[in-house]
Amino acid sequence: MIWLKDNFNIVPIEDVYTTDKENPVAISFDDGYKSWISNVLPVILELEIPVCFFVNSGLLGLERNEGRAFLKEKVRRKETFLDVLSKDDLISLSAHNVVSIGGHTKDHCDFSQSHSQEVLKEQIVSDKQTLEEIIKKPIHVFAYPFGQLVNAPREVQNLVKQAGYKAAFTIIPGFRNDNNYLNHRDSLELWQNTRIWNRWLHGAYDSLVKSKLKLKGEL
Ligand SMILES: [Zn+2]
Repeated sequence: MIWLKDNFNIVPIEDVYTTDKENPVAISFDDGYKSWISNVLPVILELEIPVCFFVNSGLLGLERNEGRAFLKEKVRRKETFLDVLSKDDLISLSAHNVVSIGGHTKDHCDFSQSHSQEVLKEQIVSDKQTLEEIIKKPIHVFAYPFGQLVNAPREVQNLVKQAGYKAAFTIIPGFRNDNNYLNHRDSLELWQNTRIWNRWLHGAYDSLVKSKLKLKGEL
């Protein structure tokens, strides 16, 4: 985080495409882990950097075993030691002005599978309302669970827009897509050194990814 702060302008995710700051970067975390409170919050408060947390409302307040079952079955996490947020955790997280909350569906819904309209509405529209009722603030950004192109079909993009979200994010690496409901995100890993992070965040992988997607007929 210190390296990111020293080398980029860290801005709220809602502003990343409109800011006139040079080299803007937005930071986000997905799902809803207790470690956001213990590990992430102290760092972002100390460094005063904005962060967005994309939350599954369906995991909030689950008991330890239920929470771990949710992470294993719905989020498909292999780690068995992770705990989930309570509603109060989310409320206290969202009270910090460096924090924004985004939608990530109720149950980490896999949109590469087909779902009824009713299920889609529950996962996208009702989920947004649930989060807003809990934190008592409007939310503007959404991240597709699993984040690949197959997890963000056009029908789902449209519903995300209709629900009132202003932008949505995949985890396809790269810069902005022309479609504001199919924005890219880079998943940077701690084991990668900062030279790789630097190249990645300056777009070195964009053309590679684009040609790969074109070859696969997905773009
Ligand atoms: Zn997720």
